[in-house]
Amino acid sequence: MPNREMLLIPGPTPVVDEIYAALSSETYAHTDPRFVKIFKNSLELTKKLFHTEGEVFVISGSGTLAMEIALINTVAPGEKLLVISHGYFGDRFIPLAKAFGIQVETLQAEWGQHIKKELVEEKLAEGGFKAVTVTHVDTSTGVMAHLEDLVPVVKKAGALFILDGVCAAAATEEDMQKTYGHPDYKLDVVFTGSQKAIGVPPGLAILAFGPKALAAREAMPSVLGYYTDIKNWVSIMNDPGKYYATPPVNMIYAFNKGMEIVMAEGLTTRYRRHHALGRAVRAGLGVYGMKPLASEEVAAPTLSCILYPEGVNDAEFRSRLAAKGMVIAGSLASLAGKAFRIGHMGNVTEEMFVKAIELVGETLKEMGTDANIGEAVDKFKEIYHSA
Ligand SMILES: *Cc1c(COP(=O)(O)O)cnc(C)c1O
Repeated sequence: MPNREMLLIPGPTPVVDEIYAALSSETYAHTDPRFVKIFKNSLELTKKLFHTEGEVFVISGSGTLAMEIALINTVAPGEKLLVISHGYFGDRFIPLAKAFGIQVETLQAEWGQHIKKELVEEKLAEGGFKAVTVTHVDTSTGVMAHLEDLVPVVKKAGALFILDGVCAAAATEEDMQKTYGHPDYKLDVVFTGSQKAIGVPPGLAILAFGPKALAAREAMPSVLGYYTDIKNWVSIMNDPGKYYATPPVNMIYAFNKGMEIVMAEGLTTRYRRHHALGRAVRAGLGVYGMKPLASEEVAAPTLSCILYPEGVNDAEFRSRLAAKGMVIAGSLASLAGKAFRIGHMGNVTEEMFVKAIELVGETLKEMGTDANIGEAVDKFKEIYHSA
């Protein structure tokens, strides 16, 4: 087993042996029918993941590239975009849109809270918004957006709904055929990266464009990109044996294996597992007096941002845990030093998190804070099996 550590950050997430094995398979020519078959299969599974009636794109790059592709192919320079931000990654759309001359307006939530739909409704009533971006799970705060509230409001205003699913896809539902209160109210673009809840190493931008988003691209004579112009990729994704830019052959092997694992578990089971895991991790850590930044009502199934109890030093806590083989992340911006982030997504197991809760308890004790490890583990298991 190549993994020596438990990588419990908000991505990359732990990579299972079968995916490492796929990654290290022999590199075939990108036009070799044996590779083309694997690429095709991975694209079909991607379509199933998002239930899209449109097109999917799997391209070398990270989640940020997917953000860029989503934006420039739907919103032209000079057009208006509304960014609904629940933290650092929501905010990332602001400079990104500005770099392409898009007019950006923003609704920014206080970190840990979410934007109420009435506010969105009010903003959109100003008119003229081509699209709205929503970060499904903001990785800085562990807040999950409520699609049931936001999709109808955005679609009613006639804007495209662009969902950043980088920290959510394959862990919680992102169904592009699902209708939100009206037959036309659906997600238009959803995207992710390979390294989060799909559990593959970093390196792929994965996108799905619905019919309205594809029509938006068609309506623009050109976009400010070449590698990032989806028009150049549509024929490749429909026939991956064709050449446009060399696909990352070994990453596609790994991605295909990752998607097979997702589908073998089953989407419903996988979503339920993540939901239970998120609740259980927060409840278990709660026994140590650690409070999540986001209330359970808006908390994400994929990662949690956890505030330290009084007197626990962030750098020391995380380096002690790392020495025990458990890697977690610090927090961003004004939360730096005050909270840590723990990922609980992808191909992770109950056993890993029992171990994680034990290691956190041991570390707190070493640092002079009381911790009832037995009670925390019991709480974790109780919620995991009942949620
Ligand atoms: C990680 C993340 C990104 C950025 O992805 P990279 O692969 O780091 O470029 C964007 N949005 C969200 C919600 C993320 O979690």
